[in-house]
Amino acid sequence: MMMLTRKMIEIRSLLQTIGQSESLTLPSIVVVGSQSSGKSSVLEAIVGHEFLPKGSNMVTRRPIELTLVNTPKSHAEYGEFPSLGLGKITDFSQIQKTLTDLNLAVPERDCVSDDPIQLRISSPNVPDLSLIDLPGYIQVEAFDQPSDMKVKIEELCEKYIQPPNVILAISAADVDLANSTALRASRRVDPRGERTIGVVTKMDLVDPNRGAQILNDKNYPLRLGYVGVVCKIPHESKSLFKRGSANILNAILKNESAYFNAHPDVFGDQSRMLTGTPNLRKKLMHVLESTMSASLASTSEKIQHELAEATYEFKVQYNERSLSAESYLAEALDAFKHSFKAFSDSFGRKEVREIVKRELDQQVLNLLAQRYWNKPVESLRPRDGIEDGAPLQQPLEALPKAKPEDMALWNLKLDASTSTLTKLGIGRLATGVTAQSLQESIQDLLKGSTFNAHPFAIKAITDASESILRDLSFETSDELEICVKPYKYRVEVDAATWKKGRDNVTDILKGELEDCETAFRCAEETIGGRRKAKDVLTFIDRVQSGELFLEGGDGVGGAGGFSSALLTKGREALFLRDRADILRMRLAAIKSRQCASPQNKYHCPEVFLDAVAGQLTTTADLFLDAELLSKFYYQFPRKLETEFRSLDEGTIERFAREDPKIRRHLDLVRRKEGLEHVLKEMEGLRLLEVREKRAQLAG
Ligand code: GDP
Repeated sequence: MMMLTRKMIEIRSLLQTIGQSESLTLPSIVVVGSQSSGKSSVLEAIVGHEFLPKGSNMVTRRPIELTLVNTPKSHAEYGEFPSLGLGKITDFSQIQKTLTDLNLAVPERDCVSDDPIQLRISSPNVPDLSLIDLPGYIQVEAFDQPSDMKVKIEELCEKYIQPPNVILAISAADVDLANSTALRASRRVDPRGERTIGVVTKMDLVDPNRGAQILNDKNYPLRLGYVGVVCKIPHESKSLFKRGSANILNAILKNESAYFNAHPDVFGDQSRMLTGTPNLRKKLMHVLESTMSASLASTSEKIQHELAEATYEFKVQYNERSLSAESYLAEALDAFKHSFKAFSDSFGRKEVREIVKRELDQQVLNLLAQRYWNKPVESLRPRDGIEDGAPLQQPLEALPKAKPEDMALWNLKLDASTSTLTKLGIGRLATGVTAQSLQESIQDLLKGSTFNAHPFAIKAITDASESILRDLSFETSDELEICVKPYKYRVEVDAATWKKGRDNVTDILKGELEDCETAFRCAEETIGGRRKAKDVLTFIDRVQSGELFLEGGDGVGGAGGFSSALLTKGREALFLRDRADILRMRLAAIKSRQCASPQNKYHCPEVFLDAVAGQLTTTADLFLDAELLSKFYYQFPRKLETEFRSLDEGTIERFAREDPKIRRHLDLVRRKEGLEHVLKEMEGLRLLEVREKRAQLAG
């Protein structure tokens, strides 16, 4: 018989994990009683440990689904909260504390919650049982309790005492049974007293004869009968077993049997079955088994029905494609690695070269603008006198026809510019832009991947690539800097490189010129059209050339009939116009015969600097390809593999469920599998039942 109950309790737990449908469950024993009726004491006497929340102010706010598992071969006694994942708790005072915390977590305004706490207790001293402990009925309201608490508790209990559940109605012997809230509630839903077990506690508090009379109550006869108990924990045991792990069962039983044995005339043989916790335990097991057994067939039918529905949905919606959180992650990871491989095949030395060269082009343009293309205003006004840096302000127009005595200055200027370019920190710069481009590409790959719906994965992958690139960049940039070191002392440019540089820089300057012209036209527009712009620009030109003198500085508050805002815009336009003039002039110079060969490098700084940048890039792309790209392409997929494969089950589950579509799919697959599993277990149970019946008949 034991085996059957155990199996049914297991099936009941399985059905709970499948969840959802309330009708899909096996009946349980629900425990009701008013506060202080001794309800907790009865449950603790069955378990053999104090584990329920206590305290004058403590009100149970959530049902506790208590599953007791008899483990005859083991000494260990422990509790588990399956949905909390706290593991096995051997200290029962810890279980008590957890239950208290879970109860207190119910918001004050809600009073009670019908979300049950699941607790599983395994011990060689407990019977196989499943009980649901409900909040105790309130009889006397405390002044600090919410006023609707009483009603809410009654409603919650009402829900649970419905058929086919068995009601364990707890009443204290020292309260008239007619006033027992538990029995009154049970009478409403079970008027013929067919599925109620009456437990009369505190038998020691009334005269034995009166006690015996209560147990044979005729006013509200119960088919399953009444059991009288004395579940008080003896005082001396209380202090002795305070530490939470000791079993108090023997102490309680000794105390109880001492009481009943002391009155053999009243609680003698013929009514023995009506008293004592051991008898109550037996009765509970027996009743639970027969009740569960009775509803097996109908539950099995319901499960088959639900399974048919789930199977149909699985076929229609998902084309029978099975899915688990693990397989989903593995597929997503494989696809991502595949796209990364395709990317790594398409992003090599050539692509690095383009990125690095583009960055250096920008640096060359900046250098040229700083050292060569600034409008040499002072040189147009020789009367301002010569300062230290003045020779560097030679007008650029003078460059192609520089006098021999001026050449030293132009040489100096080009050498200084070359030195600035080679000492720019090419290692850091080139490594930086390449790493950044790789990082951006990973982001693009993520956007196009399954992972895009998973913030968790996006972060993990971004972090992985960032950390690898950070580490690689440190070494690479230092080593690359050493590689370009020779250029810091001497740069040779041969004819072929020169020609390439000349073509390249021509394109760059043309592009720059176009940008300048576009920006100038925009500036003209904002000033108010071409005519107006011309007026403003002429005015500023005249001021700057010294032809006009402005009182009060450079016209901060407006001048010449123009507002200060207009003059600011005008100055911007003027800068663009001058820049475009210089670019046109330099383009002409580069095109001229002067710039046809490297001999004239001092006359053609643009070509020379571009050629230098080209050579730096060649060194950089070779090195970055070998050091940064190859290593990254090797390390990144492996790191992803290690990180994702080492995730624990819970994390993988959370990951997969981030996507609502996947969540629905997973839920259905799981539900279907769960139902199939339960059905199989139930079939096994049926066979077991048949076998036991046969054995009984044969015996
Ligand atoms: P609950 O509020 O219904 O859970 O009641 P408790 O189990 O906490 O019991 C209320 C009080 O009654 C406690 O002080 C218990 O020690 C006491 N009590 C419980 N059962 C018995 C019993 O059989 N005999 C006596 N004398 N006291 C009991």
